[in-house]
Amino acid sequence: MMKIPEWLDLVPHATARDKCIAKTSLNEGSCIFTEPAFTTILLPSEKGQRCDNCFRLPSGKVRLQRCTGCGSYWYCDTQCQAFQWRAHHKRICKGYNTHLSSPEYQALPVHEKNDSILLTHTLAKLSLLTIPYSVEDSPSATVLLSLLPHPQDSVPPPVCPIKPTPQPQLLKRLYARFGNNNFAIHSRLTTVGHGVFPVASRLFNHSCVPNAVAKYVFSSSQSIVMEVVALRDISPEEEVCLPYLDPALHESRRQILEISYGFKCQCPSCLFLQAIGPLPELPIDQTELSFLEKSLRDLVGFVPDLAHTLPERLIEDTPPSLYCMLREGYMAGLSETFSKASHEGQYDVALESGVTLLSLYLLVYPPNYPQTGMHLLELAKTAWNAIITARGLTGDEIQMLKQQLPVFLSLARHILTILGPEDDGVGPLQEIQTLQQLLPDI
Ligand SMILES: [Zn+2]
Ligand SMILES: [Zn+2]
Ligand SMILES: [Zn+2]
Repeated sequence: MMKIPEWLDLVPHATARDKCIAKTSLNEGSCIFTEPAFTTILLPSEKGQRCDNCFRLPSGKVRLQRCTGCGSYWYCDTQCQAFQWRAHHKRICKGYNTHLSSPEYQALPVHEKNDSILLTHTLAKLSLLTIPYSVEDSPSATVLLSLLPHPQDSVPPPVCPIKPTPQPQLLKRLYARFGNNNFAIHSRLTTVGHGVFPVASRLFNHSCVPNAVAKYVFSSSQSIVMEVVALRDISPEEEVCLPYLDPALHESRRQILEISYGFKCQCPSCLFLQAIGPLPELPIDQTELSFLEKSLRDLVGFVPDLAHTLPERLIEDTPPSLYCMLREGYMAGLSETFSKASHEGQYDVALESGVTLLSLYLLVYPPNYPQTGMHLLELAKTAWNAIITARGLTGDEIQMLKQQLPVFLSLARHILTILGPEDDGVGPLQEIQTLQQLLPDI
């Protein structure tokens, strides 16, 4: 029915519909699956900044060009425009602005506005394919309509008029598969759009401790391509899983998975959190909190001036005294403290909160998780800035930072090399290389 790479297999699962397993050993960092997007949308905040077709940012003095028909879609060049025109835009261009200004569309909440446009793109694309969708011509269309529907029935948002008018049944069938199957398309951990990738939806189940992640490559003038990368070595027969949502959502993820995806996650991390029950409040007293933060760093055991590899920890290692640090608000607050202090040049605060945050990541994310790699790069940049400005630091402290900086950099490079280049290819790996070239000068 659909093409699966020869090293993967879809086999029955005890509770889910199926599961995707490795047929052979898959190496850490290998790209195990690719799929061009069936359809995508750019988030409204990115409109006019990135090409609506390939999501690339214009480079240098190049400016994006607007569709002369509707003025509401932007493209790198005629190649991107022609590709999207043929794929779906020619069915939408005329009615798009009327749809956007209609009271029905305007009344929608933001996420339904996004769904309305993605649904429009998908319907328009389907309308250009021959019915019945032949497996040879449009395998993705066939797979898309065979995906499991959302557990709850919901009314589709209004869509842009398309001629010939699609069957209302098709609209319902498609929308029922949106909430639990679509992917957020991200660039350097920031969501820039949403996309329909039917085969990936059909293949990969969720795990809160995933052994693979999806990244998005914006290098072609055709579709955006999803690549699934192994975060670690995967053995034959082992299931390949992706995170459907941020594994650090300790308090909400089980409910979201149940309501939006229709299953109760039974991973070791979820069972552990379930056994704990509601997470305790954080101490209000700052001294007490600082003590707990030190205990967290000690538990994880990351020592920046000595580390050659990152310690591997499991959330199940958390002692009861530190359960409060698993609260979602704590990670968010710590991340904000780190960014703010780093930005404002309070390097002592930044580096301490940054290492505490890294320890938390190592406890709750699986090894080589992209967030950990990106954070190590931020730590390296903070250490770099601290050394360069030397503001409020003693000679010994600067000496120590000079030892830590290459450690942050090499650990960041290790993880981000496993993930490999994403989006338009110029990204964190290039920043790491630049910093590494500057190291001998400090
Ligand atoms: Zn483009
Ligand atoms: Zn247009
Ligand atoms: Zn879980």
